Amino acid sequence: MALLLKGARVIDPAVGLDGIIDIKIGDGRIADVGKDLDAGDCEVRDLAGMILIPGLIDVHVHLREPGQEYKETIESGTRAAAKGGFVGVCPMPNTKPVCDSGPRLRYLVETAEKCGYARLYPVGSLSTGLAGTQLSEMGDMVAQGAIAFSDDGRGVQNDGMMRRAMDYAKMFDCVVMSHCQSEDLVGNGVVNEGVASTRLGLAGWPAEGEEIQIARDIALCRLTGCRLHIQHVTTAGGVKIIRAAKLEGLPVSCEVTPHHLFLDEDSIDTGYNTNLKMNPPLRTKDDCAALQDALLDGTIDCIASDHAPHAAHEKALEFELAPFGTIGLETTLPLVLTNMVRSGRMSYARLVDVLSHNPRRILKLEPVTIERGSSADLTVIDPEAHFVVSVDGFESKSANSAFIGETLVGMAYDTYVAGVATLCSGKVV
Ligand SMILES: [Zn+2]
Repeated sequence: MALLLKGARVIDPAVGLDGIIDIKIGDGRIADVGKDLDAGDCEVRDLAGMILIPGLIDVHVHLREPGQEYKETIESGTRAAAKGGFVGVCPMPNTKPVCDSGPRLRYLVETAEKCGYARLYPVGSLSTGLAGTQLSEMGDMVAQGAIAFSDDGRGVQNDGMMRRAMDYAKMFDCVVMSHCQSEDLVGNGVVNEGVASTRLGLAGWPAEGEEIQIARDIALCRLTGCRLHIQHVTTAGGVKIIRAAKLEGLPVSCEVTPHHLFLDEDSIDTGYNTNLKMNPPLRTKDDCAALQDALLDGTIDCIASDHAPHAAHEKALEFELAPFGTIGLETTLPLVLTNMVRSGRMSYARLVDVLSHNPRRILKLEPVTIERGSSADLTVIDPEAHFVVSVDGFESKSANSAFIGETLVGMAYDTYVAGVATLCSGKVV
């Protein structure tokens, strides 16, 4: 049945829209947009007080299936996505086995078709087994629906290998997503090198361990012409290099995570909270400020959660031994609303750009806009909903959030994928 979404404040900078407007949905698409639309025989949903925007896309998540289903599955991970207001996610290939061939990528697509609560845009690996030595079966993976390539979790250490991978990805017009980490410089580092590593007595991970590969991959982007997306940039120096590359006109984009925007190395105290152990690590307050500025001035294109589920027993280890990462799908939108939008630093229009339009542009997806004919992939926000992040509240199978205990204001209320609700009044359906 057709659906009429009534009375929300609808915001979409791509079509210059910000006002109280009704949206009619039929056959998965937006059938009409206008003031006080006639309900006819539509089901009517009253969204007064809510904010409605094009549906959110997360270009960087880990869904752990196949191989580590005790941490997350495609079903539980996409439920977490729906809860967080996301209509689509890009799972990274560092599963067990690694997603490095056509059949393995096909498995993800088919599983999501059966039990997914969001669109799945799988990312294939650049190298076989993430070993960084031999190209993966890129052509076969493209044929099965790969949207991009990445060896996320590891930097590609061999320059020639990275160049070859970018040459190939360019032939398929796929973006290469780069996790920038020089293993020679990073070694066993687990926290930012500097004050934090000294104070905590932990091995340090220098900013240069990230920046050197950002610079290399931009040089290879210039050489090959392949589109390059820098994953989870964390340092002021990295931002500077990317800004220069964009000024030069190179096809470079980048993402930042909420934890690198809103947490810094001083968050790690002698409690050694392993939920704050990240790859790359939390950096300095100055780095956070540079990342926030770059997000606002357009140098950083999008926000990605790097949703990284781990079981409680895995994180309950010494800091050096615990795995890296925090879950993020269900807190990304609330964190940005609380820390950037409510504080007045970021407009809703910019929020739509960094969580909706820019991720689609990076992946070369069909744009979603609030106008007749567009796919009805929509996110409805309750801007006044208060909640405390707690281990009990997640749709994700894991609860390793770096933000446990924080009070956040604003969260997803409804999520629609092709006009079908995956979240309704804050409940996954
Ligand atoms: Zn990564």
